[in-house]
This record gives sequence, structure tokens and C-alpha cells, in this order.
Amino acid sequence: MKQLNFNTNIFIGENSLDCLKTYSNERIFIVTDGFLVESKLIDFITDNINDTNTVEIYTDVVPDPVVDNVVGGVEKLDAFKPTLLIAFGGGSAIDAAKAMKLFGIKLGKFEQLTLIVIPTTSGTGSEVTNFSVITNPKENLKHPLVDDLLQPDKAILDTRLVRTVPPHITADTGMDVLTHALEAYVSTEANDFSDALAEKAISLILNYLERAFVNGDDMEAREKVHYASCLAGIAFNQASLGLCHGIAHTIGGKFHMPHGRINAILLPSIIEFNSEKCNVAMAKYADIAQKNSLSTGSGKMAVRQLVNRIKKLRQALDIPSNFVEMGETVESLKPHLDTIGKEAIQDPTTATNPIQPTEEEVIAIIEP
Ligand code: NAD
Repeated sequence: MKQLNFNTNIFIGENSLDCLKTYSNERIFIVTDGFLVESKLIDFITDNINDTNTVEIYTDVVPDPVVDNVVGGVEKLDAFKPTLLIAFGGGSAIDAAKAMKLFGIKLGKFEQLTLIVIPTTSGTGSEVTNFSVITNPKENLKHPLVDDLLQPDKAILDTRLVRTVPPHITADTGMDVLTHALEAYVSTEANDFSDALAEKAISLILNYLERAFVNGDDMEAREKVHYASCLAGIAFNQASLGLCHGIAHTIGGKFHMPHGRINAILLPSIIEFNSEKCNVAMAKYADIAQKNSLSTGSGKMAVRQLVNRIKKLRQALDIPSNFVEMGETVESLKPHLDTIGKEAIQDPTTATNPIQPTEEEVIAIIEP
């Protein structure tokens, strides 16, 4: 038996931020990053919060939030005693806010806290998932936390908020979406519901990501990619992810490269590995290639067309095809490979990969 829950109300389209206007006499704690305050994007939020509310803004979140961000945030939450928590930003600000809520409840600082998530990148889908990824710098490791307390109560998708995302971040975060959808699609926990969401997310990314990258003011493309991110998020919230994320979490903890970029580099090799080792995965990748008119064939030939399409997209988005091209040297990567192999197979997201790899197979996928 599998129970499919979905407890986040999603507000989309023009004026979706208006739902913030309904709150009165609340103590609102906003978690965001410094850039979103300096660039005044935060005004989109504060302009919709009426004066009867008391607001505190927490900006100490760093990209790939660390344990200290969460500890510091919980202390601030405890002092402020909020009745409403708003996460505003990319995956980093969102995941920090989600973890603050989780640990605030676990440490008995408060019993419940309504969480509204407003993404400003189109990538992680964190606005609709019960995941939060927190980095422990002492271990150089990113920990995916999974808990129903992390599930946001509301998600607001306002495409105006992603208009300013620069091309390289549009590229990285968009490839994160594609990875979420493809990993959910071939996951051992995939089902017809998650497949429907993943299929739509994949076709939106294949059709619109390059447009959003080339022209950030193309609001149709921006909207499609923003919605794809959310659809993929719901898909992997049900089906979880796979080896690409398992490796990305360990590499991201050590080298601090953008998460989506790591996924983009690994994704073609992961598809090749999974389809060589698992016929069910091969059939599903082939199915995606056919559904997106990438191939009229089946099996290996269709998978090759899918891999080629992803490599072409990656090139069009100016994303390097390996870690050395990204600025790492063979010497800087080599000493970490054994640890990366060990950690990747233990990462919880690897558990639902269609085939469980050995450490040696993980190393072969990433070896420069
Ligand atoms: P991010 O939140 O780190 O943001 C990247 C950069 O973009 C930051 O410098 C930020 O200031 C900037 N930015 C954000 N919005 C902007 C805007 N509208 N205009 C201009 N610049 C803007 O990046 P991300 O890719 O959204 O999130 C990555 C994090 O999310 C990683 O820690 C990753 O591990 C995690 N993640 C979480 C999940 C999940 O389910 N919780 C899934 C995938 C990834």
C-alpha cells in the first residue's frame, strides 16, 4: 500500500501574492537571503503584508545553508515567537526556513507554525516537498532531511519573482528540475501519479528552459519553467530521487559548486548507467524520449537520443560537461573519490535509484 499525501495549497498566476493580504495581527518571520533584500525583491512580499502585522526579516542564509544558519534561526524564532513563517528565496533560503521550523518544533520551542514558501528560483521544488538539504561543514556533507513537518502549508508561484534570475542560475536551477523529474520517473517508488507530474515537467523543461536562459524577460518561458519546477517537486515528493542526487549531495558538501550544475554534469552518465543495468529504467527513459519526439525507436537507441538531447541542452546553456572543465583539477578531485563513492551509496536519495551501485561504479561515473 502506498498513501499519497499532498498538503500544500498552491497559489499560481497573476496576483497570487494577494493571498498574503488576508493575514492580520500576525507575528511574521521572513527567512530570505541578503541579495533579495538588497535588490528590493523583498518589497513584493512586504508590500502585501498589512500594517497590523509585526514583521522580522532574517537574512543570514548562505547558499547551501549550513547547520549554524539553522541554529541561529531557531534562536531568533524562539525570541520573536512568530505565528507565521515565510520562506522567500531560492532553495537555500527555503530549506533553511524549513529546517528552522522542524528543529524549533523538535526542540519544543513551539508546537506548530504555519509555513508559506515563495520561491524566487525555478529549481528545487522545495516549496512543495518534505525535504530540506542542510550542509554540515565539519563533515563536508549535505544532509537531506525528510520529515512531514517540512511540508509547506502554502506555496506561492509568482513568475515576476524569477525575472531577475541571471542566465547561469537559470541554467543550473533548470537542469536541477530536469534531474528531479527524470529521477522521480525511474525511481523504484514511481507510480502513475508521480509519472504524470514528471512527464509534464520534463516536456516543459525541454521546450522552454533554453528560451528562459536566452531571454530572461520571456515571461511565457519563465512561467513554464517555474511551474515545471513545482511539478517536478510534487513528483519527487512522492517518488523520491536517485543516484544523481546521491552523488551531488556528497560533491556539493565538499566543493561548493552550484547544486543544479553538479546534477547537469552527472545526469547523462547516470541515465547511461541506469539503462545499462536495469531494463525497467531503460524502457522508461525510452518512453520519455518517444513522448518528447526525440526518437521513434525503442530501447538503447531511444535512450541514446535522450542523452544526446540533454547534452545538447547542457551545451546550449553554457554548462561544462565535466568537473575539470568546471575548474576542478584531476588532482583536487582524486583524493576525495573513495569518500564520495562511500557517501553517495549511503545517501537516502540513492535508495530509490533503479539499481543500487557499488562504490567503484559511483567513482567510474564521476572520475575525471
Ligand atoms: P540558491 O537558493 O542557493 O540561490 C542561488 C543564487 O541565486 C543566490 O545567490 C541567490 O541570492 C540568487 N537568487 C535567488 N533568487 C534570485 C532572483 N529572483 N534574482 C536573482 N538572483 C536570485 O539556489 P537554488 O538552486 O534555488 O537552491 C539550491 C539549494 O537547494 C541547495 O542547497 C540544494 O541542495 C537545495 N535543494 C533542495 C531541494 C529540496 O527538495 N529541499 C531540492 C533540490 C535542491
